[in-house]
Order: sequence, then structure tokens, then C-alpha cells
Amino acid sequence: MNHLWKSLRQKRTIAIRYEPSAQLLSYLSDMRDATRMALAHALVDAKLNDGKIPSPIRLRKKTRPWFVSSMPYARHHINPVCSKAVALLRAYRKRHKRLGLPSLEKLSMRIDGELFKMTKDEDDGQVTIRVTVRPHEYEFIKFRPNHKKWDAYSKGRLGEITLTDSRLLLTFVKGLATKPLGDQLVGVDLNFATVDCTPIDGGHQKMMIRHPVTIPTGNIEHIQDSFSRRRRRLQLHVRNPEKRARKLEETRGRQRCRVRDALQKLTTDLVRRYPNATFVFEDLKHIKSRQPKKGRRFRARLNRWPYRMAQMMVDYKSPMATLYPTPRGTSSKCPACGGKIEHPTRIPSDIRWRVSVCPTCGVNYDRNRLASLAIACRGARLCGRPFSVSEDASWHLVRDEYLWHGPVAGETAMIAGGTEEGANAPKEVLS
Ligand SMILES: [Zn+2]
Repeated sequence: MNHLWKSLRQKRTIAIRYEPSAQLLSYLSDMRDATRMALAHALVDAKLNDGKIPSPIRLRKKTRPWFVSSMPYARHHINPVCSKAVALLRAYRKRHKRLGLPSLEKLSMRIDGELFKMTKDEDDGQVTIRVTVRPHEYEFIKFRPNHKKWDAYSKGRLGEITLTDSRLLLTFVKGLATKPLGDQLVGVDLNFATVDCTPIDGGHQKMMIRHPVTIPTGNIEHIQDSFSRRRRRLQLHVRNPEKRARKLEETRGRQRCRVRDALQKLTTDLVRRYPNATFVFEDLKHIKSRQPKKGRRFRARLNRWPYRMAQMMVDYKSPMATLYPTPRGTSSKCPACGGKIEHPTRIPSDIRWRVSVCPTCGVNYDRNRLASLAIACRGARLCGRPFSVSEDASWHLVRDEYLWHGPVAGETAMIAGGTEEGANAPKEVLS
């Protein structure tokens, strides 16, 4: 399958060379000044707040009086100015491990969808971008698209443009997929032993977290393990290299068939369980680099779990669109409180990978279930429905089901003393 768009809301940018007018150049230079001013405001705000960089909205409140009084432009231009300042400040802190004032030399400004309009002359193919500089005062950029991907990309919605002193960047966003979004989102965390799901009801009503479900995948792990044992035996005992290669290839083929069959059953079960849901998976492009070191054996197993195959099966079986948010932070940030999750290393490794300790919440969470909640939340945000887990009434109804009740060594219990009511709640495991 060769999809032009690999997932929902994917962006594609096309760069066009252009010659900015004198007015546009002075606009760009004024916006650079505005961004510098916003950066200074943001830095002061961060230093007054224990180093917490303000949100673009907070920064906008602080910067607006200055912007309105000294920048002779449409007020809306302050939005990209503030988000750019915040992004620059975050990038600076990430690179230098401290707060500081980034220098800003290049002329470059993002223009939001509200402030430009693209029209195409159907007769001669010329494209015109009209930028609102001041209310009822426009700049026009005309070009003939000769980019080879223009026809394909421009089917998407033109989400934003970026102007520099030599180039115009057009970012197209694919509209919603051909399949509609479901009223329910199901965050799915795929693991060796279990598939953990967190459903969030939404649609047009209030968002509500529903009971999480854990489905064992035991047979897939078992198939993978037994085939790899079989291959090791072949490696050791078959001396003839040709025969060994043939036998190994045979077992690989058989393994693929068995695994595919098991996955078909698993994914059909998932789609039947949530017939009108939009499934949310981690975008696993980064999974191998994301995982901390867990030893060679673990990595070998990780490579063998057919995540991508399972996702694709659900994707084509489900009548609703499937979401793939990037997994950034899903395993290190607590979805309930936003705090940093700890994975204590002093406990036995078989337990270590099943517990997430949140010192802020003060409890041990079931790692996989918590991950499925984080994934569901990312999906909700991708749909434009972000919500705060800990402040949601439904969270208090289901929270206990996310706690870890397994055999915890004394040390973990000490790290985050489990709660009494949580200890008695049964964990729903389906077989
Ligand atoms: Zn927490």
C-alpha cells in the first residue's frame, strides 16, 4: 500500500521562491522585533515562575498592550508571534539546559489561516496568496506552481503559510480521513503479553473515561518464543549450511502465518468490542529509539512483536478513522497529573516493566493501562478535544482500575505507598 498520507492530519510543505515587496519586508522585520519583544516578556515571566515557560496564550495577554500600541498591523498577527517566541524559548532551554534569550536574525513569519487566502486562476493556473497585513489592506503574492507534488498536496487544506525574505512555505494539512471519526476514542497500548485499552466517550457530549480493559495476547508471545527456540536448535544442530538455510526459511514462513492468524483474531476481537470507535495507536516510527536500554534479549523480543501489522489490521477492519499521535512522553509523563513518571530500577525486572510510579499522584500505576490512557488523551487532543484527566469526574470512577496491584516488592511500596481503596479493586482481565 502506498498512501500519500500515512496518517490523519499529516502535514506537507511546499516551498516557493518569491521576491517580497518592500511592504512585506518591513512587515517581516517588524514581526522579528515583535518576536524579540515577546521573547523578552516570556523570559521574564518564566524567571518569575520558577522557570516555567508561559503558554502562548498567557504570553499573548502580557504582550498584547505593547503589540497593539506599537505594531501597526492586524491584531491577529500577535498569535504566531507568541507561539514562535514560546517555541524558540523551549528549544533554547532544551539545547542549553537553562533559560536564556535566543538570538533571532532570520526574517521568517508564520501566517495563520485567518490572515491569508489562496485563489487559483483556473485559466492560466496562476496561484495568488492574499495576506491581510492590516484590516482591509492586503499584500498579494503570485506564482505558478511547478512543484511536482503540488497537485497531490494541494488537495489538502492549506493550514498555514510561512514567509521568509526569499521563500513562501505552504503547509497543507490533509483533511479528515475518508473514514469518519468515531464518537468513542480507544487508546490502545500493544505489549508482549497484553493489549491494554482505554475508551474515552466523546462525540458531541462531554468527554468521559470508561473502564480500561486488558486483553491477553499470550499466544503471540508464545508463538514467537517457540519458533525462535526452534531456530536456535536448527542453528546448532544442522551442519549442512544449505539445508540449515532452507529449514530456517521454512520456520520463518510458518511463524509469519501463525502470528498473522493470531493477530487477525486479536484485532477482530478489538474491533468487535468497540464497533464504532476510533482507535488510537502510538505512531511507532520512533519506538526503537524511544525505548531505554533493556538488554539484547529484550530488544530482540521488541523487534519481533508485530505492532505495525496489528495496527494495520485494526485500521482496515474498523469502520472509523484510526489515529496515530506521536508517542512523545507517553511513557514518561503521567497522563493524570502531568508529573514525571518513575520506573524504579531497584526492583526485579519482571515487575519493573509493569509498574509506573507517579510520585506526584503518590501511587503505583499499571504501566500498560496508564500508557493506554496517555495514548487515548493524545488522540483526544489530536481531535481538538484536549481535556484534563485529574479534573474529570469520570477519572475518579475509574482511577483504581489503573493502579498496580501485583506483587510489589517492599521497595516499590515504599516509593509510592498504594492507597487502601485501590488495593481491593479487582483488575478486569479478559480471557
Ligand atoms: Zn500522576
